Amino acid sequence: MCNGVWIKTYGCQMNDYDSGKIMSLLGRHNFHKVDSCQDESCGVVIFNTCHIRDKADQKLFSDIGRLKEIREKRLKKERPFVIVVTGCVAQALGVEITRRSANVDVVIGIQSAHKLPEAIEAVQQYQRSVKKYSPIISIGECNDEKFKCFSTVGASHLGPCAFVTVQEGCKNFCSYCVVPKTRGTEYSRPLAGIKEEVELLIKNGIKEITLGGQNVNAYEGVDENGGKFDLVDLIEEVAGYPEILRIRFLSSHPCNMSKRIIEAFGRIPSLMPALHLPVQAGSDRILRMMNRHYDRSIYLDIITKLRDICPEIALSSDFIVGFPGESDDDFAATLDLAKRVRYAKSYYFKFSPRPNTPAENMPDQIPEEVKEKRLEILQELLDSQQQEFNSETVGSVQSVLFERIGRHDGQIIGRTPYNQPVYVEAEAGIIGSERQVHITDLDKHSLGGILV
Ligand code: SF4
Repeated sequence: MCNGVWIKTYGCQMNDYDSGKIMSLLGRHNFHKVDSCQDESCGVVIFNTCHIRDKADQKLFSDIGRLKEIREKRLKKERPFVIVVTGCVAQALGVEITRRSANVDVVIGIQSAHKLPEAIEAVQQYQRSVKKYSPIISIGECNDEKFKCFSTVGASHLGPCAFVTVQEGCKNFCSYCVVPKTRGTEYSRPLAGIKEEVELLIKNGIKEITLGGQNVNAYEGVDENGGKFDLVDLIEEVAGYPEILRIRFLSSHPCNMSKRIIEAFGRIPSLMPALHLPVQAGSDRILRMMNRHYDRSIYLDIITKLRDICPEIALSSDFIVGFPGESDDDFAATLDLAKRVRYAKSYYFKFSPRPNTPAENMPDQIPEEVKEKRLEILQELLDSQQQEFNSETVGSVQSVLFERIGRHDGQIIGRTPYNQPVYVEAEAGIIGSERQVHITDLDKHSLGGILV
């Protein structure tokens, strides 16, 4: 009756991945997912938090505050109602969370998320017996224990594509980013655990794997004999499973874009010709202030080498506009770099200071209206590049891996090797298969086609 779990996930794909794993893990302990905290059977609310976005902790505490009434009502009826905070904010603030809100029962850092079932069950017992209890706090360092536990959970809900975290944390300390503080320094999972997870995913019908990490191309794991194992070794290992048709990796740092990784795009057929390589800015001065450890010529050189090896590669990037001190010339350099690269897709943001980062207190913060204007200009350029890239596909035949049912009746959605969403009219039975599609239509963000 009280084992319904509602998870609210904030932030990035890594958090979505962790939430899916947490839910599957709790499913093995007789908990089930509910769609709202108002559901009669909901007895556990989990906030899987993200520290990247602005004012993350304010949003969290206001969300927790909204549960006060429902929690009190349930507890009066001696029905457990456990509030859990996990993810990056839990990792960063720890015990501070329970000091700021008496309604929080469990704070679990993302590296200890495998301990959630026992922590929730312990609080439920205290609440049922109306015993006084202290909140449970567990903030661990990154190690393979979490992954070992997560890798054994079912994955049948995933469709044909899965995200496998192989690396966590970062040691680059970009001046605007909190990840090195929240997720900790770089940690690479050993090969054995990754293989176990991949094999389980294959049993569940997975055809495409994205190897993920905050800085995935810095992956440096160990094989079963303790030997060094890098990202290319890992891609080759996954490519060795004939069931896996497609491999991608996300997210990469330009400084770790080794010759070996670049060459892999020309050599490993199941490594898809698409790469997300965030540049953030096109001005050397701003890149230095961002502490990105490369300049525009290094970045453009990587792009040239990638295109020499794999001419059709689809490149995507993240951009930040309005970084402190960004002049008109700096912004022009960003536009110029984008024009040179011609991206297939991009994500763009206005700079907004994150607490406890060097950029927060840098001088010459850019006025909001200037950021807005620059974002508008950059958006227009990058959106037109995406349209251009997609329009070049119209008229061609593309191999599409079908993933899910679309929003309209009879519509099935898949993706090309270049990560473009494609919809066709077809039976749901094609989900999970790779089919040839004649691309006939171009929409704002997707392509339409007909099965060949
Ligand atoms: S590379 Fe920079 S932006 Fe990316 S996670 Fe590391 S510190 Fe953050």
